[in-house]
Amino acid sequence: MKFVRYGEPGREKPGVLDADGAIRALDAHLPDIDAATLGSEAWQQLASLDIQALPKAPPGQRLGPPVGRVGKIVCVGLNYSDHARESGVPVPSEPVLFMKPASSICGPHDNVEIPRDSQKTDWEVELGLVIGRRAKYVDEATALQHLAGYCIVNDVSEREFQLERQGQWDKGKGHDTFAPLGPWLVTPDDIPDPGRLSLWLEVNGKRFQDGNTQNLVFGVAHLISYISRFMTLQPGDIISTGTPAGVGLGLKPPRYLKPGDEMRLGIDGLGTQQQRCVPAGA
Ligand code: ZN
Repeated sequence: MKFVRYGEPGREKPGVLDADGAIRALDAHLPDIDAATLGSEAWQQLASLDIQALPKAPPGQRLGPPVGRVGKIVCVGLNYSDHARESGVPVPSEPVLFMKPASSICGPHDNVEIPRDSQKTDWEVELGLVIGRRAKYVDEATALQHLAGYCIVNDVSEREFQLERQGQWDKGKGHDTFAPLGPWLVTPDDIPDPGRLSLWLEVNGKRFQDGNTQNLVFGVAHLISYISRFMTLQPGDIISTGTPAGVGLGLKPPRYLKPGDEMRLGIDGLGTQQQRCVPAGA
């Protein structure tokens, strides 16, 4: 199933795509798709709904992030060997983790802000994992049972803030709109093998990233198990699994985003996102 949240920012309603890709309203069955409802009994019961019998949402809806009230986004750095190489660093022996704040989340087609004083805003298409069940000290064999599904994440990054302004990476990862999520939350039954998905990203129609999750250094089950040893993963949390080669930082010369640029990105089975870059507001 492909779930969406649609409507104005902060007032999104839950929906599900029907056989034709149209949005059907779910609010009679679930108040929202969020930390409180993922994994709940009402959520489990959605699997047996007759989707074609649900009311259609009005056309022309904005899509919000497909999960509301996200508690945390845990990101994995340097998790594709070709991206580690273009970044000029060795492949890590254990997953590198950093966080993006929930305030950086936006819808899949919303504008992305270029922060004030930014010269090096960059793109990163990534496979996102949406947690559906509390995970603490889980082993790899049962790790995937803790997923509600998958979505696309654009891990937008300001490289100067990330790498040249001292300390950890978070300064370059947390600006508003630096985490477009969606368009859909796709349930695991629709994605039989998350380790075999192509993912790509274009800027102004030119393809810069063209990878496959086959080349993840640390795979999906390992990441869930590994992260759950350091922090409890809760329903609605997102893991962003890392980006393949082709980011602006790795180009010669580097190429960064400016207002007016358009990003398009996609992953097999998870849809596409599209964002226009605009100057940051207050
Ligand atoms: Zn990333």
